Amino acid sequence: MDAPAGSTPILKGSCFCGTITFGIFAPPILSAYCHCTNCQRLTACPFIHTLHFKERDFVWTWPREEPAMSVLDYYENPLKPYKRRFRCKKCGVAVASYNANTGQYSVWGAGLERGPDGEILNWEVVKPTAHQFYGTRMLDVNDDLGKWEGYEGSGRW
Ligand SMILES: [Zn+2]
Ligand SMILES: [Zn+2]
Repeated sequence: MDAPAGSTPILKGSCFCGTITFGIFAPPILSAYCHCTNCQRLTACPFIHTLHFKERDFVWTWPREEPAMSVLDYYENPLKPYKRRFRCKKCGVAVASYNANTGQYSVWGAGLERGPDGEILNWEVVKPTAHQFYGTRMLDVNDDLGKWEGYEGSGRW
């Protein structure tokens, strides 16, 4: 969708090479470290920082003269065909995924805009509030966040 008129995103992000960019106009409705086996297998990481946003608050922002699908590709998980996982055709990095059932975009914390020291900008807005799907973790995490069987609030680990 197009950016709300006259507004500036509170968060920005991109793929590794910077070809694909996006902006976000409201705080996340979910921010958590996800230990589910889908995230592990899709990212080849033990767990990821995932953030969910309402569709209306997420906007692709690469140059508009570029036809979207010339730089962007997507994968539909056959087990979850309502989910599209978008990736950059140049560097191959996944930048966001869209869930047609919930009308939400997900992005990953590591893809958000960084400051000069590598810190993620607006960390107070995006920092995780929980560890979700902790039962399938690949390593223990010793921090103060709640650990949950599924999504936050679903049954404490
Ligand atoms: Zn890229
Ligand atoms: Zn997950």
